[in-house]
Amino acid sequence: MPGIALTMISIQSIETILLDLPMIRPHLLAMTVMQKRTLLLVRVMCSDAIEGLGEATSIGGLAYGDESPEGVKLCIDCFITPAIRGIEATNINAAMELIGRVVQGNPFAKAAIETALLDAHGKRRAVSVSELLGGSVRSTLPVLWTLASGDTQRDIDEAEQMLELRRHRVFKLKVGRKSAKEDLAHVLSIKRALGERAGVTVDVNQQWDEAQAARSIATLEEAGIDLIEQPIAKHNRAGMARLAARFVVPLMADEALYGPEDAFDLARQAAADVFALKVVKSGGLHATRRTAAVADAAGVSLYGGTMLEGSIGTLAAAHCYSTLPHLQWGSELFGPLLLGDDIVVTPLRYQNFELHLPSGPGLGIELDEDKIRFYRRDRGDVSRSTPRGPHVVPR
Ligand SMILES: [Mg+2]
Repeated sequence: MPGIALTMISIQSIETILLDLPMIRPHLLAMTVMQKRTLLLVRVMCSDAIEGLGEATSIGGLAYGDESPEGVKLCIDCFITPAIRGIEATNINAAMELIGRVVQGNPFAKAAIETALLDAHGKRRAVSVSELLGGSVRSTLPVLWTLASGDTQRDIDEAEQMLELRRHRVFKLKVGRKSAKEDLAHVLSIKRALGERAGVTVDVNQQWDEAQAARSIATLEEAGIDLIEQPIAKHNRAGMARLAARFVVPLMADEALYGPEDAFDLARQAAADVFALKVVKSGGLHATRRTAAVADAAGVSLYGGTMLEGSIGTLAAAHCYSTLPHLQWGSELFGPLLLGDDIVVTPLRYQNFELHLPSGPGLGIELDEDKIRFYRRDRGDVSRSTPRGPHVVPR
């Protein structure tokens, strides 16, 4: 049937652009201090002149995981683009299967490409990405805020401001940079100040050993902390299982969980009560739904995590999480709010403690081309195009 070949809509070109954006304040985590955000913007142009947008970013370059925006750019430019240029743009499962054959690992890069293909196909069909995934079961997502200024009083003031604005009522505290004694004093001060008006969770980013975790979690449980995230090294699943069995306060796996295979193994070992999903960790929106399905089958609760993406990556995650039957612990999709500027025409809507999904086709977002020109690293301005050096601050 020659007509089919003629009407096939194909992937024509893929552009990858590194963007360096300012932040509203430095973000202090156990393993890095974030002073700026580097986003990799992916623009997939199809033969029907429809463009899809995707994004990949990471937390502090390579400080959090195995991929950085710069590495994702290389992976897409050198390996993914040559493999999928010219193939059918409308069969996203087939495209992802092909990419899986030529690229091992690199889930962040795969997620950025799949996001762009879904955005394009949604625009083509005049439906949202969540509709392409089968439809949303919620149109808004609860969003917590991470207090990570490095100063206890400033964190308390920031939380009070967020409660006043009705933007967030659950706060995640980042610990592990200082001694456990100092960290616990910091957490307890904030919990005391906020009382029952707000939920408080703690993310240790793997910094404690099992004995330290046991001592510290006992104190945090007693203080009424709601959730403890990745207290020990991601590879110590047996240790996570022992801690999960020992305490009532739920433990969440974040760094330990990437895709469905990790989910299966963690669930089999009863190593966590909650899983932190992230679209880039699973390698795309469909894969994230498979990870979530394993959690559901095993009776593990779900949390909509973030790699601190900008508006595009955040919306990709929001569309995906909106389709999940269970999202017991809400989300942390606040990435765009940490940025000092945005690259989209209409910023995401955060209201009454929730992120509201846009209703437009695809991701439901439009790029601000002036901002892209201004923030792209390769624009030729030496003072801004030169990376400012490593993000990691020695501890
Ligand atoms: Mg985490």
